Amino acid sequence: MSEVEVKESIVLALPITAGTIVTFTPFSLPLHSTSTPFNSIHTEFELLDMKDLRNYSLLHHNTFGIDARCRRFVEIETVEEAQRLPSVLKADDRPLMVIGGGSNLLLTKDFEGTVLHAAIRGTEANVADDGSVLLRVGSGETWDDIVALCVERGWYGAENLSLIPGEVGATAVQNIGAYGAEVASIIYNVEAVEIATGRLVSFRPHECGYGYRQSRFKQEWHGQYLITHVTYLLQTTFVPHLDYGNLRERFTASSQKPTPQALRQAIIDIRREKLPDPLVEGNAGSFFVNPVVSREKSEELLLDYPAMPHYDAEGKVKIPAGWLIEQCGWKGRSLGRAGVHGRQALVLVNRGGATGADIVALCEAIRHDVKEKFGIDIHPEVNIV
Ligand SMILES: Cc1cc2nc3c(=O)[nH]c(=O)nc-3n(C[C@H](O)[C@H](O)[C@H](O)COP(=O)(O)OP(=O)(O)OC[C@H]3O[C@@H](n4cnc5c(N)ncnc54)[C@H](O)[C@@H]3O)c2cc1C
Repeated sequence: MSEVEVKESIVLALPITAGTIVTFTPFSLPLHSTSTPFNSIHTEFELLDMKDLRNYSLLHHNTFGIDARCRRFVEIETVEEAQRLPSVLKADDRPLMVIGGGSNLLLTKDFEGTVLHAAIRGTEANVADDGSVLLRVGSGETWDDIVALCVERGWYGAENLSLIPGEVGATAVQNIGAYGAEVASIIYNVEAVEIATGRLVSFRPHECGYGYRQSRFKQEWHGQYLITHVTYLLQTTFVPHLDYGNLRERFTASSQKPTPQALRQAIIDIRREKLPDPLVEGNAGSFFVNPVVSREKSEELLLDYPAMPHYDAEGKVKIPAGWLIEQCGWKGRSLGRAGVHGRQALVLVNRGGATGADIVALCEAIRHDVKEKFGIDIHPEVNIV
């Protein structure tokens, strides 16, 4: 684990020789009018005014739309506020839970502890003569606003990750991925504050243990760090990546050129066709992880289900959980106020007024049926709290 001063890591570790600093203050998108320039960090703690609330409803902090409360809610807007956490948090404020936009979260009950939300805003870009761009972003920025900004400015590498809900901090925890891209491949470094000590740390991607939707932040470092900034390494040269889903066919059929804007729009359109909008129908995207089974198990299943989709996964076989759920007849069905989305069986939805327990009951009913029919255990991808 490397540990460096945050400001130094940015200045000293740049892989580029000549660069131009471009600072956006305020951010050019409407949601960012409160952004703080990174170069105006205060040291006077008395100037800070941390949002600190008791018995707070998390209804607007989770995309499932579950109305659960937490005992204490602390919102951190600057690195200095994050560094003050050891003195702000008392022993009886625990357990702690760090959240971003709550788009991978299912709350099943009130949280008898403290929720920390990093609302650190702002962007800073360093564009080099060789076409590489280092974009340092506050962890509380909305991820898709950043993708939109990149496409608008001509900084490429993030466009296939368009419209994934959530905030920048979580991208580095979740290793978000879609349409053949994973954010780990464009992460340059992750800056964080160790919650217990207030110590600043900075990690390069090889230290973060990235794998499929995995990182050390989700595993052995879980709950230890509050991510404050993520720096992405982008390029001014555009190379379209169309080899996933039906992207290539879409462009071939329409004879449209896959410009960066067109590619982003195509991905947005496909996602909107397939996935429910959390503002309309609460959900957390893919609810289950796609199971990986042995070759023998897959061959056995293929005898009974020759049309079963399956993909090579490092010597084993990955089977889409959505297909398994659909085969069990769950697609579009409901159990009480919880349901399975009609166009994508991997997505569980809040049909209106569902509790976390309703969603969990549906999850368990589906897991039971998949196990009974296929002999496969499927597990939730979503954090169930
Ligand atoms: C409709 C829909 C579609 C989706 N599609 C995709 C997809 O295509 N690909 C994909 O990968 N995901 C997808 N997701 C899942 C989700 O968007 C991602 O997991 C996202 O990164 C979660 O971001 P968040 O800010 O909401 O994080 P949260 O759900 O709030 O938190 C996720 C994790 O990150 C941690 N965390 C958050 N912020 C910080 C921080 N500042 N410091 C330390 N830890 C932090 C939390 O503790 C938690 O462990 C989808 C979700 C929805 C609702």
